[in-house]
Amino acid sequence: MYKSEKKSVCILGATGSIGESSLSVISKHPDAFSVYALSANENADKMFALCKQYKPEFAVMADADAAAVLQDLLTHAMSGTQVLAGSGALDQIAAHDDVDIIIAAIVGAAGLSSTMAAATAGKKILLANKESLVIAGQYLLEAVRNNNAELIPLDSEHNAIFQCHPVAHQARRLGQADASVRKILLTASGGPFLHRPLDTFDTITVDQACAHPRWSMGRKISVDSATMMNKGLELIEACLLFGVAPEQVQVVIHPQSIVHSMVEYIDGSILAQLGSTDMRIPISYGLGFPQRISSGTQAMDIFKIAQLDFMPPCSDRFPALELARLAASDAKVLPTVMNAANEVCVDAFLHKRINFLQVAQIVKTVMQEMRSASVASLHDILDLDADARVATSKHLPANI
Ligand code: NAD
Ligand code: MG
Repeated sequence: MYKSEKKSVCILGATGSIGESSLSVISKHPDAFSVYALSANENADKMFALCKQYKPEFAVMADADAAAVLQDLLTHAMSGTQVLAGSGALDQIAAHDDVDIIIAAIVGAAGLSSTMAAATAGKKILLANKESLVIAGQYLLEAVRNNNAELIPLDSEHNAIFQCHPVAHQARRLGQADASVRKILLTASGGPFLHRPLDTFDTITVDQACAHPRWSMGRKISVDSATMMNKGLELIEACLLFGVAPEQVQVVIHPQSIVHSMVEYIDGSILAQLGSTDMRIPISYGLGFPQRISSGTQAMDIFKIAQLDFMPPCSDRFPALELARLAASDAKVLPTVMNAANEVCVDAFLHKRINFLQVAQIVKTVMQEMRSASVASLHDILDLDADARVATSKHLPANI
């Protein structure tokens, strides 16, 4: 049983896939956690339903029009939830004195500012929003360390690595190298196109790209999984979180998605975390850490796992992975450029403006164009992110 005092939780990105899984775990532990604040971008109806169910003190809509709609709905329902609007309100709520735990589950670079605010305010951060780490990892980890914040990765692979890596549990050690680690074995399902003939990739549809064989997720990360840019972002994420060089991260295709990643040590031991493909497992681990709490997931029947396969990825099939390796070796400019270009291209693919192959092609072109940019501060990184979005949009066909 969970014995600590009740913790108040703020979920940034509450209407998304991670938000939903987080609320499901929290609902199972009403004596341990309360929902203090929820945020979303523009889906006022879904936020209204969540407010009725979880009765948070605050509901923040990034979009001002959506906030006005939500306010109307809540006023009619005589709800006590206060509505706030805009990205400044996201930062405010992430740093609020009454909040203990932040679940950072906004998709894309839009999550950076609120995640930084939570780190600066010394919160316990459960980080799903990998993009903020990829673009500003050094600054985010510094803010975590300097303000005695705590960061637990929710990304299933990094949560698995964290679970297999006791040194990373020590306060202030996250992001620092550990000489006893030889390699990180970062597993990947291979996505929906692991076996699709390469000469048909230009006809991949949005629905096909969003239909992940193992995980149910938001649309952006689903497309990233199909291109394997997701694994590329995760490679950079692993380097930052666990202080390893890109060459120490081996991507391993593991189609069953049972082993969520492994850590190989210098003595030859390999530690792995296994489990079903259900984000409630890493979320419950993060919420309860250092204790374990129930996640609501059904126990996995080890006898039903007929086979576990592991193979190296094929770079012809997944050029995005090589782009990420290049970005990881640069560490400063290219991860931000790659992420921004990818966000713009994935959005263009989802809106049927470019085909599947063009995503990695355009990202590569923008990385080549902008590789000599320089950054010396977080402010520069935000400017670089904006510039890379403009540069990318120049490669897209005109809006119809
Ligand atoms: P999603 O699209 O389902 O949800 C995204 C959430 O972010 C929504 O609540 C949306 O309202 C909010 N949002 C979107 N744009 C916003 C903006 N501009 N300002 C403020 N809020 C905004 O996405 P998801 O699948 O839940 O993923 C969220 C994050 O978690 C991503 O960074 C993703 O890479 C990461 N992640 C997700 C999974 C998964 O299983 N879904 C696994 C690992 C990591
Ligand atoms: Mg992942």
